[in-house]
Amino acid sequence: SIFKTLGLSQAIVDSLTDLGYEQPTEIQKIAIPQILGSKNDLKAFAQTGTGKTAAFSLPILEQIDSDNKNTQAIILSPTRELAIQIANNINEFSTNLKSLKTIAVYGGANIEEQIRPLKRGVQIVVGTPGRTLDLIKRRVLNLESIQWLVLDEADEMLNMGFKEELDNILEKTPKSKQTLLFSATFPKEVEAIARNYMNNPTEVSA
Ligand code: AMP
Repeated sequence: SIFKTLGLSQAIVDSLTDLGYEQPTEIQKIAIPQILGSKNDLKAFAQTGTGKTAAFSLPILEQIDSDNKNTQAIILSPTRELAIQIANNINEFSTNLKSLKTIAVYGGANIEEQIRPLKRGVQIVVGTPGRTLDLIKRRVLNLESIQWLVLDEADEMLNMGFKEELDNILEKTPKSKQTLLFSATFPKEVEAIARNYMNNPTEVSA
């Protein structure tokens, strides 16, 4: 499989085969080896529908420590629907990986039902910015093991008015993490996030 040559293990490649992913998309070909091979931050120009979800999820799944129950990756998305879709995709990609837990968290839903699984241990949290910040402030979302922070559709999150929440989350998460920013456009508000919170990011485009 061509996915194997990008650095992905057989367990993940098998799940991709089951999903009918035969060839990596352009952004997957560029981003997967980049994220696997370097701790550098990544600024990626990618439209929706380009396969960007797998581009950031697969290298995270490849490197996550399933023996550590703490949250290791936070993926921020502009809408509840997108958060649910990303979490579903990650669950499909990780069918052959043992004891890996992913949760989608978003506003307008009972927070207690999101708190309960978080307390039991969830390695990957996919959330809208407001609810994610709420869970951080309540200290249910523990940040000490965070290694990856993904900003998916960063332009959309800023368009929707989540600047303050993003600033807050980016300030609270550990400095040592790898930040992966995906956006279809790069207006000055997105560039400001990259400038303020990313460390000499590698820029890719598909
Ligand atoms: P995304 O841009 O991540 O929302 O992906 C767009 C659609 O393409 C989704 O339905 C994915 O399941 C699908 N997809 C992503 N990567 C591949 C691939 N390498 N081969 C086939 N389908 C894919």
